[in-house]
Amino acid sequence: MLKKVLIANRGEIALRVLRACREMGIATVAVHSEADKDSLHVKLADESVCIGPPPSPQSYLNIPALIAAAEVTGADAVHPGYGFLAENADFAEQVEQSGFVFIGPRPATIRLMGDKVSAKHAMIEAGVPCVPGSEGALPDNDAEIVKIAEQVGFPVIIKASGGGGGRGMRVVEKKEDLLKAVEMTKTEAGMAFGNPMVYMERYLQKPRHIEIQVLADEHGNAVYLGERDCSMQRRHQKVIEEAPAPGITDKERKKIGEACVAACKRIGYRGAGTFEFLYENGEFFFIEMNTRVQVEHPVTELITGIDIVQEQIRVAGGLPLQYSQKDIVLEGHAFECRINAEAPYNFIPSPGLIESCHLPGGLGIRVDSHIYQGYRIPPNYDSLIGKICVHGKTRQQAMAKMRVALAELAVTGIKTNAPLHRDLFNDHDFQEGGVSIHYLEHWLEAKKAK
Ligand code: ADP
Repeated sequence: MLKKVLIANRGEIALRVLRACREMGIATVAVHSEADKDSLHVKLADESVCIGPPPSPQSYLNIPALIAAAEVTGADAVHPGYGFLAENADFAEQVEQSGFVFIGPRPATIRLMGDKVSAKHAMIEAGVPCVPGSEGALPDNDAEIVKIAEQVGFPVIIKASGGGGGRGMRVVEKKEDLLKAVEMTKTEAGMAFGNPMVYMERYLQKPRHIEIQVLADEHGNAVYLGERDCSMQRRHQKVIEEAPAPGITDKERKKIGEACVAACKRIGYRGAGTFEFLYENGEFFFIEMNTRVQVEHPVTELITGIDIVQEQIRVAGGLPLQYSQKDIVLEGHAFECRINAEAPYNFIPSPGLIESCHLPGGLGIRVDSHIYQGYRIPPNYDSLIGKICVHGKTRQQAMAKMRVALAELAVTGIKTNAPLHRDLFNDHDFQEGGVSIHYLEHWLEAKKAK
């Protein structure tokens, strides 16, 4: 078993990993930039190492500094969290080549899934349903591009193979605009991701975002932990997540879950992972795989009782999964609200000093957060300051709990998006369940117009 884990991250996820390690009797090493020296993960870790100045390229993305920190502290493994280097195959490779365990999939798997064209190809081969579109990257021949688009059917979306974070995509409504859009996306992708390859998909009009959580070990075992609905998004960024997804039947869940498990076995997947799908008219369409723990993993933990981060660590240490599929039972309903330091309706970041802070509590309420009274949120990183998660017997009970939790939350000194969450938990359509990925954008436009 692993003895000392270096956590190559910050904020709430660093704290999450730290707590998992501590429960397992594993020592922890925190790393931090100069801006984060007063952060909670630094205070709570057994040891900490400053890895550089505030800008992330010089600290949290600085691979030599991270490897050196693991070396000087005698860590035996590295947990990357999410974001930063979590899906960087070169980092995983260098961690392993330096003699440490990387808590995640093999570098080759990260590389395969990080390129969307190769990921889609692997999924088609594994029998996972994908959005209809071009077979691989688009050719250079204009006539052929037009032919593919006509086969796929307008509107289409042109996507960069190396894209991520909701960037490198362009929707095309009609044939006349096609070739120019392909050219522009290629140029942008080349500049932003160093890879000009683009592909084409049918543009789905009103899909939901539903994703499947999986766990796999090195001994050929893999399980799915049900699904999450993450349709409440703004600019392709998730705002609220829930599990299970409203209206998904046991039969649908089993079918798509088993397809994901089969894909894991086929590609030799290791650790925790998420298959992301768009869901429309009763059909699932794969869009991408995340080869790491996700921000929204707690909603799955709440309905399954499984500690996803501890399983990641066990599997990385070479142990078999503790669960087989028959042990995975979904109970009740869970929600997560991402609390950001930002103005609630225009999303302008609001870093600064937290003058006072009261976090909610009670039965079925879980708060994953690194903030405290007197903490200064640095302006250098993303604006997530915590997650409020609730678990109730039914969706309605979980909603009631979230309303109470959001009403209790009181943070002064900075702005948070709590008012937006309070509005949404009182919104009729969201209460009904099953809104599409465009719902929040339309809701915000309607609010602005009022
Ligand atoms: P990224 O890696 O940048 O997050 P994804 O492929 O996961 O890119 O797509 C991000 C989001 O873009 C999806 O959640 C969805 O909102 C939208 N999207 C992507 N592909 C399609 C499609 N074929 N039809 C409609 N919307 C899409």
